[in-house]
Amino acid sequence: MEAELVSRLSAAIGPAKGTVALHEPSFNTSEARYLMACLKSTFVSSVGAYVDRFEGALADFTGARHAVAVVNATAGLHVALIALGVDAGSEVLVPGLSFVATANAVAHCGALPHFVDASPATLGMDPHALERHLREVVEKTAQGPRNRVTGRRVAAIVPMHTFGHPAEIEELQALATRWGIPLVEDAAESLGSFSNGRHTGTFGAAGVLSFNGNKIITTGGGGAIITNDDALARRLKHLTTAAKLPHRWEFFHDEVAWNYRMPNLNAALGCAQLEKLETFLSNKRALAARYRQAFADSEHFEFVGEPAGTASNYWLNAIRLRKGGLDARDRALTVANEAGYQCRPVWVPLHRLPMYGAAPRAPLPIAEDLYAHLVNIPSSARLMSNHE
Ligand SMILES: *Cc1c(COP(=O)(O)O)cnc(C)c1O
Repeated sequence: MEAELVSRLSAAIGPAKGTVALHEPSFNTSEARYLMACLKSTFVSSVGAYVDRFEGALADFTGARHAVAVVNATAGLHVALIALGVDAGSEVLVPGLSFVATANAVAHCGALPHFVDASPATLGMDPHALERHLREVVEKTAQGPRNRVTGRRVAAIVPMHTFGHPAEIEELQALATRWGIPLVEDAAESLGSFSNGRHTGTFGAAGVLSFNGNKIITTGGGGAIITNDDALARRLKHLTTAAKLPHRWEFFHDEVAWNYRMPNLNAALGCAQLEKLETFLSNKRALAARYRQAFADSEHFEFVGEPAGTASNYWLNAIRLRKGGLDARDRALTVANEAGYQCRPVWVPLHRLPMYGAAPRAPLPIAEDLYAHLVNIPSSARLMSNHE
């Protein structure tokens, strides 16, 4: 089984000379050119032309009316939740299977993450599990939806598009609307992913993108909040820029807020990267096709493809072990990594982390099953650009 994994990886992407990274960014002279121009301008911090230009280009690409660039996606999620009224002592429904930042952003509001199970088809929050759980534990009151067990307000729902594969976002959005709960999409992994032609992150009140070094495009560190709501966009800009009122010289701030604005230097890098997004997307789609073919007749592994009706950015490719548990997974990981193919398991489900062990949760059998069976495989866009 382990030997088969290595031979199929080799069939898809060639022999590992040294180490094939799980995911690395691609840069060339255009990034250097933008960065040099930014340095020459002397505007390297939170004011500058590249931030505005990057926001405009993101809005154009995603079809959102507004993009607000921030220091990272965790900060973006935090401030989006604050702006939508998530406060201390409330609960926010999040996937049990996600990167820790989804839950941390909730905790930074003083609220509690409340975990919901994943769909085996999309790896994202399962609308059926969510609906069952809402019926079981949430009641509508005059003050809004409440957890009838804990008595706490249910303040938001935050689905996430795992590895770039869109969750069943239309169904999740319909549930959020029906229950009167604001929806914020953790779209950190899904720039360039669409559900029925609409960009992920544009279905709820707001969506949050990440441009960390391992994402599909990078600004070094960075993120953006996208929204179609004019008032929310203004509020997000205000909250991320220390709540300073515009004035030629006066420093007047009208509330406690954050310094979460993306620096111009990072945005310059982002402008260069965004020009290549279509190329990265087509390289990643070509890489996914190779993996799909390489694993097509495997009795041990199944390639994880995009859900029906969606276009995934294939940010991070994944295979699923058909049999065996954690031991089999770890053997596969050991052999693949020793052979030079950097592979990784999915995140430990969030309710198993010490700080979230006591958080409220729905049953999470699929999250547990995915944790035992999913393996991420090398996914850099440059793996395919070599073959062009
Ligand atoms: C990367 C990631 C984040 C956080 O992004 P940062 O920009 O590093 O803060 C949040 N959620 C998910 C699902 C991610 O993959």
